[in-house]
Amino acid sequence: MSRLDAPVTALSGVGPAIAGKLERLGVERVADLLFQLPIRYEDRTRVTPVGAAIAGTRCVIHAEILLAEVVFRGRRSLLVRVGDGTGQLTLRFFHFSNAQKNMLQRGRWIVCYGEFRHGPSGPEMVHPEFRVVSEDDTPKLSDRLTPVYPTTEGLHQARMRTLVGKALAQLDREPPAELLPPGTRVAGSQTTLAEAIRFLHAPPPDVSLDALADGTHPCQRRLALEELVAHHVSLRQLRVQVRDTQAPVLAGDRSLLDAFISRLPFEPTGAQQRVLDEILEDTADAEPMMRLVQGDVGAGKTVVAAGAALAAIGAGHQCALMAPTELLAEQHFRSFKVWFDPLGVEVAWLTGSQRAAERREALAAVADCSARMVVGTHALFQEQVQFAALGLVIIDEQHRFGVHQRLSLRDKGTADSIPHQLVMTATPIPRTLAMTAYADLDTSVIDALPPGRTPVTTVVVPEQRRDEVVQRVAAACAEGRQAYWVCPLVEDSEVLDYQAAETTAAMLREQLPANTIGLVHGRMKPRDKERAMAAFSRGDSDVLVATTVIEVGVDVPNASLMIIENAERMGLAQLHQLRGRVGRGSAASSCVLLYKAPLSRMAKERLAVLRESTDGFVIADKDLELRGPGEVLGTRQAGAMNLRIADLARDADLLPTVHATAQTVLDGDDATITRRIDALVARWIGSASRYGNV
Ligand code: ADP
Ligand code: MG
Repeated sequence: MSRLDAPVTALSGVGPAIAGKLERLGVERVADLLFQLPIRYEDRTRVTPVGAAIAGTRCVIHAEILLAEVVFRGRRSLLVRVGDGTGQLTLRFFHFSNAQKNMLQRGRWIVCYGEFRHGPSGPEMVHPEFRVVSEDDTPKLSDRLTPVYPTTEGLHQARMRTLVGKALAQLDREPPAELLPPGTRVAGSQTTLAEAIRFLHAPPPDVSLDALADGTHPCQRRLALEELVAHHVSLRQLRVQVRDTQAPVLAGDRSLLDAFISRLPFEPTGAQQRVLDEILEDTADAEPMMRLVQGDVGAGKTVVAAGAALAAIGAGHQCALMAPTELLAEQHFRSFKVWFDPLGVEVAWLTGSQRAAERREALAAVADCSARMVVGTHALFQEQVQFAALGLVIIDEQHRFGVHQRLSLRDKGTADSIPHQLVMTATPIPRTLAMTAYADLDTSVIDALPPGRTPVTTVVVPEQRRDEVVQRVAAACAEGRQAYWVCPLVEDSEVLDYQAAETTAAMLREQLPANTIGLVHGRMKPRDKERAMAAFSRGDSDVLVATTVIEVGVDVPNASLMIIENAERMGLAQLHQLRGRVGRGSAASSCVLLYKAPLSRMAKERLAVLRESTDGFVIADKDLELRGPGEVLGTRQAGAMNLRIADLARDADLLPTVHATAQTVLDGDDATITRRIDALVARWIGSASRYGNV
């Protein structure tokens, strides 16, 4: 094994504690340190005369200590007055050891680095880094910019620099193989991987810092290209592997499917029909289907899923439908029960939270094929779940699951066949991104909403006008309608989210005493959550205050008003999803986006997009333009790609090169292909655990 592939603990000075901290930064192997690029750089390549230092900039000063004293003005501090003949300044230390104090003696010369500024008593630097040197020594300076790395609590910058330094030394001893085909170019640059890495960790002072900050320097692009190629080929190879296997031919009896369609209270839309036909064609073949169905919220994906399921069931096989949350799974379960019971098709239910007896029963029904349809959460993956004849796997809201989770359901097929796979997502993904993020899937789009929907009117309102918004809620309730009130997510903190939701619920209860206010948040037990949702769904509560847990799932046609707080902090895709919870019935619906002023120009533009469009694809494209794919795909979904350096939006222009390069990699002879792909995957994606796990 190459030393670069060794775990970080192979480096001297790295024990379990440091390794644990590094892991938080996504650094597990020595090589990972190389891909941990600096977030910015400091220029310590030259000495600035004190008289020429510019306030607000960081610089290196070489000066003599004129006076050092400990003072007690408010707090104990060490003041060190230094000068270099061109000017004087004061170094202030609030924390200092005796050793440090003793080092800083009058008459000595020091080199220090810090932010130069004008303090209350003249020029100063607070807590500069310093080193005692001799007067006539030209201080030893770096000829390269100094990297500043992302760090985490308890892992200091200096330590990070040392560790990366060790990894770089290893890189010099064993230069990594070039894995991209010869002749691959990024904007005229011909740097090798090793050169690009070395450059980015210690660029020369004349480098364009703007390009580095934007991530558009040719060296960064060289790494981004290779990373994207690695992801792309690994997905493509997955697809080839899947194609080499067999899936059951699901072209049997259509009577179940026909009966289902004829019993629906509505006609499937043309888009639904077309996508269903694409699926039926795919599954009538022994080559396993791997298809992504995109459709805006409310486009009617569930009906299409049910149709596909009945094709499998009609052909004597089973279908498993997996949803990311219990709530959503439950909703699907209910829909499928309503549709399938009259057809005599048993639907089983499997989740992590169900009682043991209930679960045993479901497992038995799945194992002996008496249940042809199984709906559940990721509990469907578990080992004890044995399908008798799994022919089709449907995964809803794909972005919540990683690629590997998706694959583990595939392994639930019989010995000589794997199930067909259908993935459904409500997050519209622009095509170039889809080609990269879902290179292993074919895509279908349900591009029209069922008729009779009135588009949701969206308004953007500053939070100072909250009272008016409350009146709006009151008016909607007075008309017998219901409303959602979505509280902000507070920095990933469940506790604070829950407090925000509680406070809002209390405020509404006080201001709307005649109405019933329900509450759901992430800290509630699933059962209590269900209860609150069910009450809202029955119309027993008028307003549902929620954290974003309602993002997926609930279908309450009587709800016609959606209030979203701190809308400026949410992604457009997420806002669009939330808004999709209203406008499901025939009543005119509206969505109020509350924001905290002042809004940045970008935030204004983003919210305006939502006001002006209700088309998920238009919104996704705009979002990509304005912000980048993290937002478009949703954080979790971007996490499924787990990119270290590349950024799908910023590097979108690289994608044609990525696809062409990937093709060249995949066109070699078998042995070369496998070796290259394995090496690329090992370098960029690492163990399966870091790829696509949620
Ligand atoms: P999605 O999962 O795509 O967001 P759903 O499948 O939950 O959408 O469908 C949203 C709502 O539209 C459901 O109440 C469903 O019964 C209804 N629906 C689906 N297809 C049609 C159609 N062709 N015509 C009218 N209503 C439909
Ligand atoms: Mg749905």
